[in-house]
Parts: sequence; structure tokens; C-alpha cells
Amino acid sequence: MYPIKVQEIACEVSKQFFPSEPITYVSAGSMSSDFDGMMVPVPQKKGQWGIVYNDAVRSRGRINFTLAHEFGHYLLHRAALANGIQCGRDEMMSWDAAQKKLEAEANEFASYLLMPRNLFEAQMKGETLNLHLMQHVADHFDVSITAALLKWISFTSKRAMIVVTRDGFVKWAKPSEAAFKSGLFLAYKKNTIELPAQSLAARKDPLFDNEAGTDHAVGVWPFKEGVREMTLLADSYDMTISLLLFDDRAPVRYFGEEAEEEDTFDRFNRSSSASA
Ligand SMILES: [Zn+2]
Repeated sequence: MYPIKVQEIACEVSKQFFPSEPITYVSAGSMSSDFDGMMVPVPQKKGQWGIVYNDAVRSRGRINFTLAHEFGHYLLHRAALANGIQCGRDEMMSWDAAQKKLEAEANEFASYLLMPRNLFEAQMKGETLNLHLMQHVADHFDVSITAALLKWISFTSKRAMIVVTRDGFVKWAKPSEAAFKSGLFLAYKKNTIELPAQSLAARKDPLFDNEAGTDHAVGVWPFKEGVREMTLLADSYDMTISLLLFDDRAPVRYFGEEAEEEDTFDRFNRSSSASA
């Protein structure tokens, strides 16, 4: 059953459950590099829908996620999208809480379709948590490692954070709930955050096993505690994806501090509830 064959499922399910408005066209197409895919009415064929992904994308995992995302738009939103929808690369990659509601819903749908949590956890059971394992899980579900990491960070009880950098700066970062509750986050929207010089992501040492990672002392990354960093360097852009893993037990803090952070977390929760 896994990896899910999204194209077949989208065509079959739509034909069976919505015979007057089936998905009849799934194909690669040429579009601006800002976009990963679109869901559009098929020209001259009333009621029929098509899904098109960017033919410049080479990663099978990314294509698969795009197909699932567009299928999500079809199931959830087609009544409101008479002219279809074009989906941006950044929105599909970051699952940003502030992104448009429709995009967040389509991403959530895609993550549940492609990577059910119980099967995800079964893949990880008893294994050492690092990016080699995450790549293995991503391959199993035929998704990008970013999508697998975002799925994992959405449900893990560990204190962890995903950090994506481009050209030496933090482009976006997402802490797990446990990490955020213990005060760990990067305010990358408010401030420009430079990649720490001693981080694996900045050093880019080709001889080091960056995906297995290393333990950093306090101060390498801008947190009040040490952290284990695992980093994926390989990408066609000047981009890195890091998984930061903190001790399961947060350092002891003052009560006053904790109360304040809970307020912040409530706000965070309210604004990101759609993107889980
Ligand atoms: Zn979309």
C-alpha cells in the first residue's frame, strides 16, 4: 500500500465518489519556478479537473507531495475554486502557520494521506534518531525529507526544532510543541538570524557525517542549553536543513518564566492550529 500511488488514487476516488466531476488529467507541465503545482478545470471538458506539477522538479518525493496536496485542494476546496489554484513552492515547503488557510489545509491533508502517524512511528521504532533514519522514512513513503521532518515535528513529544537556512541565514524554523513550551524558538520573522559559524550547517564539512550529527555546547546555537545538530547539506539551492535535538528534560526554570511562555504558546497554537 505504501508508498501511496497518489495519481491512481486521485483518479479512482474522484471517479467513484464524484462521477460528474472526476480528475481526468494528471501530468507534468511547464510553469514558473515559484510554483510546484496546480489544480485546474480541464479546458473544454465541463466538470473535469486536472492536476499539473512543475516539470522542472526532479525530486520524486516532492512531486508526490505536490500531487497529494493538489488532491487535497480537489477534495476540500474545488467548490470554492471555479478557476482552480496555483500553489507556490515556499508555501508547500514550510507549512508556515501564517500561510493561507487553503494551503495549510491541503498540506495537512497530504501529510495524512502519505504518512499516517502510526506507520511513521513504526518505521522509527528502535532506531537511532538522525537524518539517515529520516531519509529512510522519507524513501519509504516516497516524500521529501523536509516533508517527513515536518510530519515528525508535528507529533513528536521530544524537544526538537527544524531549521532551514538559505544563503547563510535562517529562512524558517519550526519547534516541536515540547520545545516551544520550554522556551525554544527562533524569532526569524522579527530578526535576521545568521547561521551560527560553528554549526554543521555553516561549516559544510564534506568529510563529516553531518546527517548523524554532533553535540554542541551551549552558545554554538543561540539557546541557553546545548543541542545535538544533524544537517542535510545536499540541495540544488544554497540551502541546508537541520534537525536540532535537545535533552528530553528541559533545564529548570523559574515559575514566572514558565507562565509567560505558556501565554506565548497559546498564541502560537491559535495561529498555527490549521497547519499541524
Ligand atoms: Zn495549494
